[in-house]
Amino acid sequence: MRRVTIFGATGSIGQSTLDLIARDRESYQVAALTGGRNVVQLAKDAIALGAEVAVTADEAQYKALKTMLAGTPVRAAAGRAALLEAAEWPADWTMSAIVGAAGLAPGLKALEQGGTLALANKESLVTAGALVMGTAQRTGATILPVDSEHSAVFQALVGEDMTAVERVIITASGGAFRDWPIEALTDATPEQAATHPNWDMGQRITIDSASMFNKALELIETREFFGIAPEKIETIVHPESLIHALVGFEDGAMMAHVGAPDMRHAIGYALHWPERRKLPVERLDLTRIGTLNFRPADTERYPALGLAAQVMETGGLAGAAFNAAKERALDAFIARDIGFTQMAEVVGRVIDKMSSREGLQNAEMTLDTVEDVDRAARILAAEEINKI
Ligand code: NAD
Ligand code: MG
Repeated sequence: MRRVTIFGATGSIGQSTLDLIARDRESYQVAALTGGRNVVQLAKDAIALGAEVAVTADEAQYKALKTMLAGTPVRAAAGRAALLEAAEWPADWTMSAIVGAAGLAPGLKALEQGGTLALANKESLVTAGALVMGTAQRTGATILPVDSEHSAVFQALVGEDMTAVERVIITASGGAFRDWPIEALTDATPEQAATHPNWDMGQRITIDSASMFNKALELIETREFFGIAPEKIETIVHPESLIHALVGFEDGAMMAHVGAPDMRHAIGYALHWPERRKLPVERLDLTRIGTLNFRPADTERYPALGLAAQVMETGGLAGAAFNAAKERALDAFIARDIGFTQMAEVVGRVIDKMSSREGLQNAEMTLDTVEDVDRAARILAAEEINKI
């Protein structure tokens, strides 16, 4: 039996992970499940799957969780320290599916234990790529990508020589507003932005898909995970979301990963790797689909892509500043304090201000320095938001 732990179990990726595990209960022992405020779901899943411990990140929810777990063998815990402890609980396979920079510390703790980390939390690589990859190298832990594009690239690279890779193309659906006139974007609401044409995901990543901040994060994620130079990484708009990524080789061949937009594929691939096992995802009928479309990603419509290029050029802790400013701007958009297009304006100003700071490029990358830059960027972003 494999011991598995799921961070962010109550979220979109977490629930899809539990769906796969629940179909094959005899093969897994669930060590820890963690969630945020939705302790009803957390308790229900922890009991159903026989988890050893259930952790809510929100200390205020501890009593409620403990009450719901009373009389069951599942232990209740709460708060940041408990999350980090859950990462130290022995597990062979850990899913990192907390949303945002909050996923970094538990992911790093899990990597310290060795074992396998299935990484959905792209923010870990954006904020602290060198630290995350370096920790895995030092401890012998394995990191497997769960983001659909990165799982696709990973699969296209099996058995290939990295030096023969000419370019990597990750696709983007274009999000909720891909066909809107650019002028209309200023009035886009959080509800409109949170509706994805193809994928069913958490609210924050869905809005990030509409703004392409999600793709911006993914460009940096590609660079950090595969160690590919930024100029070899491209993004194109592919409205059907059936080709997730392509790898172009020196001999002109391109390997494309094609599949239904269902995260259980990438999660299942990471769960069973290096094997392939039967997964409950749709089998595509290409004759029914008929046509696949592609178009360039317009940097005027999607300024986040230009910001990603700037961040990769700066390097160092710029990713931590970028992600934190983006998270703060997204909070402000959801709260209706700023408009849709103002998110990129806020992030751009924070990046400009911080890039010139002594030490952003050359500072040592540790969890502390990353968290310091994260805090500083959120403060600067709040100042920019207040000016609007
Ligand atoms: P979600 O919002 O549906 O779920 C997030 C999970 O994190 C929940 O369990 C929530 O309780 C927990 N959480 C939130 N804030 C927390 C905090 N401060 N501390 C601890 N736990 C916290 O998000 P999601 O869509 O499942 O995305 C999770 C991660 O996977 C993100 O990094 C996202 O970019 C990535 N991802 C998601 C998808 C997708 O299809 N949903 C695809 C690719 C990558
Ligand atoms: Mg993705």
